[in-house]
Amino acid sequence: MKRIYMFGEGTKEQKNLLGGKGANLSEMKTMGVPVPAGYTITTEMCTDYYANGGKNSPELLADMREYTAKLEKETGKKFGSDTDPLLVSVRSGARVSMPGMMDTVLNLGLTDVAVMAMIEKTGNPKFVWDIYRRFIHMFGEVVQGVEYEAFAGVLDIIKEEQGYDSDLELNADDWKSVSKQYLVIVEKETGAPFPQDPFTQLEMAVNAVFESWDTPRAIIYRNHNGIEHSWGTAVNVQQMVFGNTGENSGTGVLFTRNPKTGDKEIFGEFLFNAQGEDIVAGIRTPLKLSEFAAQSPVIYKELTDILDDLEAHYRDMQDIEFTIEDGILYILQTRNGKRTGAAGIKIAVDFHNEGLLTKEEAVASIDVNAIDQLLHPVFNEVALEAAEILTTGLAASPGAASGQIVFSSEKAAALKEETGKKYLLFRKETSPEDIEGMIVCEGFVTQLGGMTSHAAVVARGMGKCCVSGCGELSINEEEGYMLINGKKYPELTPFSIDGTTGNVYAGTIETKSPEFSEEFQTILEWSREIKTLGVKANADNERDCLQALSFGAEGVGLCRTEHMFFDEERILDVRRMILAENLEAREEALSKILPHQLKDFTEIFTAMEGKTVCIRLLDPPLHEFLPQAEDAPEVAKDLGIETDKLLRMLDSLHEFNPMLGHRGCRLGVTYPEISVMQAKAIIMAAIAVAKEGKVVKPEIMVPLISTVAELVYLKKYIKETADALIAEAGIELDYKIGTMVETPRAALIGGQVGLEAEFISYGTNDLTQMTFGFSRDDAGKFLKEYTAKNILPADPFAAVDQEGVGQLVELCTKNAKATNPNIIVGVCGEHGGEPSSIDFFHRAGLDYVSCSPFRIPVAIVAAAQAELRNRK
Ligand code: PEP
Ligand code: MG
Repeated sequence: MKRIYMFGEGTKEQKNLLGGKGANLSEMKTMGVPVPAGYTITTEMCTDYYANGGKNSPELLADMREYTAKLEKETGKKFGSDTDPLLVSVRSGARVSMPGMMDTVLNLGLTDVAVMAMIEKTGNPKFVWDIYRRFIHMFGEVVQGVEYEAFAGVLDIIKEEQGYDSDLELNADDWKSVSKQYLVIVEKETGAPFPQDPFTQLEMAVNAVFESWDTPRAIIYRNHNGIEHSWGTAVNVQQMVFGNTGENSGTGVLFTRNPKTGDKEIFGEFLFNAQGEDIVAGIRTPLKLSEFAAQSPVIYKELTDILDDLEAHYRDMQDIEFTIEDGILYILQTRNGKRTGAAGIKIAVDFHNEGLLTKEEAVASIDVNAIDQLLHPVFNEVALEAAEILTTGLAASPGAASGQIVFSSEKAAALKEETGKKYLLFRKETSPEDIEGMIVCEGFVTQLGGMTSHAAVVARGMGKCCVSGCGELSINEEEGYMLINGKKYPELTPFSIDGTTGNVYAGTIETKSPEFSEEFQTILEWSREIKTLGVKANADNERDCLQALSFGAEGVGLCRTEHMFFDEERILDVRRMILAENLEAREEALSKILPHQLKDFTEIFTAMEGKTVCIRLLDPPLHEFLPQAEDAPEVAKDLGIETDKLLRMLDSLHEFNPMLGHRGCRLGVTYPEISVMQAKAIIMAAIAVAKEGKVVKPEIMVPLISTVAELVYLKKYIKETADALIAEAGIELDYKIGTMVETPRAALIGGQVGLEAEFISYGTNDLTQMTFGFSRDDAGKFLKEYTAKNILPADPFAAVDQEGVGQLVELCTKNAKATNPNIIVGVCGEHGGEPSSIDFFHRAGLDYVSCSPFRIPVAIVAAAQAELRNRK
């Protein structure tokens, strides 16, 4: 068994085994990119570590000695040497990146002996004592669990005593004194001297990295990002190179394209005479890369040549860390860069235009969940003009949001749970500990930190807006207020933030839909060419239809007619219909509702000219249209009946399980006149629009059947009504009658359904509810526990349960197509807009998915990706 790979022994394809970082380091080494030497301990060793109850096997420890010896040979340095000591970094690296979630140790190998040797060798005691104190601090905290606070005072006291403003002013003796004090602190806190054997340090650091895989914050992060807990992390042990040996050294981070916009420009930051952590810490202000280029043109050219090679090799935008040690450039890491949804699309289209990707590869490269970000609201310009900008920070992640301000992540999470309201997280800076609060908040503002800060990176990944480096802001978390330019704002004050401009506003600002880039349209166009699955919209009115059409909807897959009943003017007639004591009274009330429905359907057919429109007959239990008991007196007055009588009716309509009660086709079975009125309105509207010379394709859908007899019974009424109207109009009009399959029984008798229905649409919301026996209105309370405890991999109301519900869908589709090869089969539950479900429906042989208008772009790209994924 191979437990360790030297850089160069693996390839970029081996991410599962070597982690993303390790696989890429190996790949770069083979490409000839200047990478400091090192090796990768595989992810299997992490799994092993946990299987052994938190211990590394003797075999691994022996291999670590062997590979360290190889590393010593390659670098010409030796662990603990008193002339030329080898120093290494020890970093985690899982198969997908989990930024900041796991531990890193730098400068490992430093000991009292090695320090002396380094001073001798470099002639730079200030530098050596500085890295020693960094190492003791980091190792103490990360590996030995010494609290950050234990180290906190030392630097401040020296700075105060010597009258220094910044860390840069400390001299060699100062850093030596800090180092010595840190050694004492570690010994006091751990009860043992700081380990002076480099190999012991290495063993301890590797253990710490393995341990950091299972910290609560890492677990939360994995749950949120759908990363398997069983994967484990690899560990990379790599020769240190130093960006802080003097002014001829430095360190930088960059993206090969702009990760916010996707523009073809190198985007990053650089600090002379610094280590990587100095950039992240935000204590010194980094240079823009253009400034670095102007100061060091030769190295910059060498760097950009490597970037071009890496982009062409990986055929993706890269996120790179580099260090210059005494004028020599090293690439420490490359990985596919995180980007906003908009940037992802621009980069994919540009890469195609640059000849690096085919159309198919460009579409496959899109993070389909990130498309959602493009559909996020921006502030309404008019409302924005009236708003006052309180302060401006860095525009770190685009989008706009309003909410009440909260200063701690825990508080945000608790408030969200309690109230469900919208919150904005305002913090001095964020760290991986904040992940829970960041998940629930609409957006983030930080006082410190730059464009590559934790908050900025996490926000972009989550598709949330973020303003970072908002220096005019000061937060007093304890007292629950913040100051902006001297003015006080208590916690929970409503604020608005714009991550596209960096502006921060007081109050709530109205938002509006975003506009779409040319590249976005291009990706949608390519996706439409590739996909085989139809994408229709769940749309209940003209406005939704127009929105859906603008995104490329190919029809309406579900029009929920009851949504038209809640209009203030109409509800009274609907209530009269429900409360009617005989057929005559009911028909009279229905005759008043008919013109309203006629108008709605006419608008929809007109908007959807030439495309199918599937209208579902009334579905919800009738009591949903009736008032609460406390409003009965007023409603009774409007209806012209006694309050008592209304209350008695309310009582008689009460159901213990309304979702399993008198709803769906069961309403039609008891009151066929309701279905007849709706069929009339649909066909009359279709005739009216057809008479204007437009092509109309109405589909009438019977909801919630559990037996085929229900469909047969209602179909007769619908057909008679429709055919009579069409004959009377004397025109040709094709219409279809079909049904929803949303009870398990209906799914089990697909063959029979196929004989009676011209189309089937899976109502996977109800089908999920009834298959699991989870009430769709109540399951939210416990489903979070189910996913957190790994009892379910995901919320089955969001991503279709392929194993159970999926089996019903497959079985029914197969049987229905067997008895009726022409039957059209689709889905209109919420799952129709969810990428993993779309992939399943594609594989199950459905003809289309239908989803809410704003999910249509996601569905189109997901359908194309499903086709590409399943093509071979
Ligand atoms: C469904 O059950 O999936 C469906 C689309 O219908 P509704 O959500 O209206 O019950
Ligand atoms: Mg339903």
